[in-house]
Amino acid sequence: MASAADVERLFLQSVLSRGMVSKKLAQTLWERSIAAVKAANDALNIPHPRPEDGWNNFLSKVNKSLDKLDLEFRHLHDETSGKEMYALVNRKGDDIAQVATDYTPAEIAFFKAIVEQIMMAPREAFSVSSLGALRELNAIKSSMSKTQAEIVLASFVSRDWLLKSKRGRYSLSTRSLLELLPYLKSTYPDELLECTICMEVVTRGVACYTNNCKTRMHNHCFANFRRRHSACPSCSKEWPRESTEKLLPVGEGAAREGEDGKRRVRLKSADPSDDEEEEDMDEDEHSQQTEIQPERKTRPSRQASRTNARYNDNSMVIDEHDEDEDEDAHRQNPQRNRRSSRR
Ligand SMILES: [Zn+2]
Ligand SMILES: [Zn+2]
Repeated sequence: MASAADVERLFLQSVLSRGMVSKKLAQTLWERSIAAVKAANDALNIPHPRPEDGWNNFLSKVNKSLDKLDLEFRHLHDETSGKEMYALVNRKGDDIAQVATDYTPAEIAFFKAIVEQIMMAPREAFSVSSLGALRELNAIKSSMSKTQAEIVLASFVSRDWLLKSKRGRYSLSTRSLLELLPYLKSTYPDELLECTICMEVVTRGVACYTNNCKTRMHNHCFANFRRRHSACPSCSKEWPRESTEKLLPVGEGAAREGEDGKRRVRLKSADPSDDEEEEDMDEDEHSQQTEIQPERKTRPSRQASRTNARYNDNSMVIDEHDEDEDEDAHRQNPQRNRRSSRR
């Protein structure tokens, strides 16, 4: 006999078969699940309250059921469209191998190396060129041929782990950000940036141009914010009216051609040779900045604009209510979240 619990089961089944779904589709699947269960047992009285309340209640019920399996039906806004996306994710996914389970160890090592180049990209470009991605094969001493690697890269794109731009640069997809967030937070705490407006992770958007200002925003968050405010929420500097033009790009827009001649790696204190590599590259990069784009030198270190403590909690649950509160508090007291700079 069908029962109300079947709604959850049907819903999760239909979500699983689709991977990542928009909020609108998720709500449609939920309604269809209710209809299917009601059709099987007409006597059932399944409440169908106001859409938003009903949806949030349903989500917390679903997540309560998933909790013991360390799974979560998590949501994140797509950084390009601003659309709210949902996916069932492994909450203990602090290692890529636990998340991208359909790849071989060699392919996962390749993926990890690409993620590293994306996260360590200079000037918050959060992307890597095809050349830079393929070069990682040597760095990880992979036995994969270039042709094999190109096929694997294409499958990372077709399975929605990576995005490939018209310029041919790879960046992290919404799916990757949703599923790999615990891994990214624990591996790249200094590189991972948070949107000043919505507090979600930001890998494409804009940054305030004031020296050492920590404001980073998704384009859609900036557009919404701009309708009501004219000054930066962190440094209070008035932004020009016209457009986002004068703000600094975060993401591919910040990448320069020919920059992939160098690779950057994470500092590993246990291995002094790695330290050297990173320092050498930093120096190199600074000299280039002075030469080509001196204003970029004034951008705060990533450490200064690192994500806040809430984001560094590995058991992060994005809570709509929390976000709203944060945003409100932020508006009332824009200085509250100002973080000190290392410089
Ligand atoms: Zn945002
Ligand atoms: Zn600012």
